Amino acid sequence: MKRLVKERSGGTCERCTKARATEVHHTTYHRLGFEHMDDLQHVCPQCHGRCHGGKGKKTKRTGSKVFWVQRGKKVLRRQIKNLEEENRELRERVAALEGELGNATEDWQSFREAVA
Ligand SMILES: [Zn+2]
Ligand SMILES: [Zn+2]
Repeated sequence: MKRLVKERSGGTCERCTKARATEVHHTTYHRLGFEHMDDLQHVCPQCHGRCHGGKGKKTKRTGSKVFWVQRGKKVLRRQIKNLEEENRELRERVAALEGELGNATEDWQSFREAVA
């Protein structure tokens, strides 16, 4: 199978498509020992390092409870911020309407005075 992957890549990294591929990377270990072509990638050492360095840590963090709690907090904080923003806008609208109402009342009073 690894030979087929190497044939598919033609010796060029299948990630950056620039550097010379020297290593075979498993995109998944689900079928270890009887991998599919899609499970393997012929990559250069640099890309291979990136696969494991970046992705590996991320999956670990994503899976941890702390990560999800922090994510939840972030989402809630954003919702609170949105609500505060809405609240502020509504207050401003109320204030504006009260102002208009005040003006209308004044107009009405001066109109009545003018008539009387
Ligand atoms: Zn590469
Ligand atoms: Zn790998």
